[in-house]
Amino acid sequence: MAIERTFSIIKPDATRRNLTGKINAKLEDAGLRIVAQKRIQMTRENAETFYAVHKERPFFGELVDFMISGPVVVQVLEGENAVLKNREVMGATNPADADEGTIRKEFAESIEANSVHGSDSQENAAIEIAYFFSGADIVG
Ligand code: GDP
Repeated sequence: MAIERTFSIIKPDATRRNLTGKINAKLEDAGLRIVAQKRIQMTRENAETFYAVHKERPFFGELVDFMISGPVVVQVLEGENAVLKNREVMGATNPADADEGTIRKEFAESIEANSVHGSDSQENAAIEIAYFFSGADIVG
C-alpha cells in the first residue's frame, strides 16, 4: 500500500478545550504518524485563502470567523492511505452523522465547530501542506 501524507488541522473549538493530545492519540492509534506540527493563530487572510473553495457557500463568513477565533494546530500526517485513513478517523462533517469512535463523534460541538480538518484528496493534501509548511519542517 502507498505511504501518503495528508494535511490536518485541530480547530479552535478543540484547542480551546485542550483536546490536542486526545485528538493526536486518536490519529496515532489509527496508524498515522505526525511528521510536522505547529500551533498558530490563523489570520483572516489565511482562513479565507484556505477555505476559498467554499466562498460561495452561505456559511463562508461564519466559517472564517470560527477558524480565526483561537489558535489552531496544523499538522502533516503520514501513513498508508493517509488521506482516506484520516477521513475515517475524523468522521462525518456533521457530528450527528459521525460513526462511534471517530474524533468528530467524540469531540465535535457542531457541524461548524467540528474539531478537525483533513484533506479530501492527495492533490489537495499537497496544496494544503505547502501552504503551511516548508519541506524542511517535515521530518518523516
Ligand atoms: P469537511 O471536509 O468534512 O471538513 O467538510 P466541508 O469541506 O464540506 O466543509 C468545510 C468545513 O465547513 C466543515 O468542516 C465545517 O467546519 C464547515 N461547515 C460545513 N458545513 C457547514 C454548515 O452547513 N454550516 C456551517 N456553519 N459550517 C459548515
